[in-house]
Amino acid sequence: MNSTEKVVIAGTPVEPGTATTITIPIPQLYTHTPLEMPVHVIRGKKPGPRLFVCAAIHGDELNGVEIIRRLIHKTNNSRLRGTLIAIPIVNIYGVIQHSRYLPDRRDLNRSFPGSEKGSLASRLANLLIKECVENSTHAIDLHTGAIHRSNIPQVRGDLKNPETVKMAEAFGAPVIIDSKVRDGSLRAAADDLGIPIIIYEAGEALRFEERSIRAGVAGIKNVMRTLGMLSRVKSGKEPIKPLVVSSSSWSRAPISGIFHTKIKLGEIINSNDSLGSIADPFGETEIEIQSKHTGMVIGRTYLPLVNEGDAVVHIAQTDAVETAADTFADFIER
Ligand SMILES: [Zn+2]
Repeated sequence: MNSTEKVVIAGTPVEPGTATTITIPIPQLYTHTPLEMPVHVIRGKKPGPRLFVCAAIHGDELNGVEIIRRLIHKTNNSRLRGTLIAIPIVNIYGVIQHSRYLPDRRDLNRSFPGSEKGSLASRLANLLIKECVENSTHAIDLHTGAIHRSNIPQVRGDLKNPETVKMAEAFGAPVIIDSKVRDGSLRAAADDLGIPIIIYEAGEALRFEERSIRAGVAGIKNVMRTLGMLSRVKSGKEPIKPLVVSSSSWSRAPISGIFHTKIKLGEIINSNDSLGSIADPFGETEIEIQSKHTGMVIGRTYLPLVNEGDAVVHIAQTDAVETAADTFADFIER
């Protein structure tokens, strides 16, 4: 994609030096209620990359909705080089229902690249790819943890692609995970189109988490500076040196019961350290959970009720624990 080419979304051309909201019609509700997906397009006078940013592909993951709202307010087309294409809410149906899924109970992020004649999820995925992703040169997809599970701000991407590495490092999250692409995800579809993409995961579903939101807005702007879309800040702080890991794993509940833990997000854990205990409600049996890995806690459940096999603590594996601890402390102080 040439950065000086025309930008046309849903048949509407966007001229250099303009900002507009384009509404893409999507399948209506069975109540005869029409639905549309608003896309914000801010195009600078000067040519440059086209960055696609989207949130709420999972309809209960809301931090990204607020990140994009703030990003749009802060992006001035007179200073922008290139184009920002931003969708604060992709899964309109899910957001209405406070649900991760679509009304057909499919996960949109397992339905890419989709097709015009497929399921509802497949059609929405296809629309997103055809109208927005194929119009872009770079992409950022915003997510959060699941309901009752919170993630510390983290970026995921395919670190074999140097352009993806550049974006991931520029973002400024304390953790980067070199993670495998999941079939059917937006990431997989963007990868197939040769568009570098990073995922920002922060906070939990159905909640606003201020630190995650601020880090998300700052992160996207950092990426835009690195791509040359915004001018660099002269007296800016040194960028954060993120912890880069290639594997992370969830510790799971060995039995069902009440989960007690004092583990904090960002905490350093050594192999065999206690992650907490699970007791039955009468306190007759209590089993301690020990960490199988050394690393940093990047996610945890906040629901004390667990079934056997439930994921309770997510650890990014690393032996460089002191550096990891310093990085997290640096992030918290900003
Ligand atoms: Zn998600």
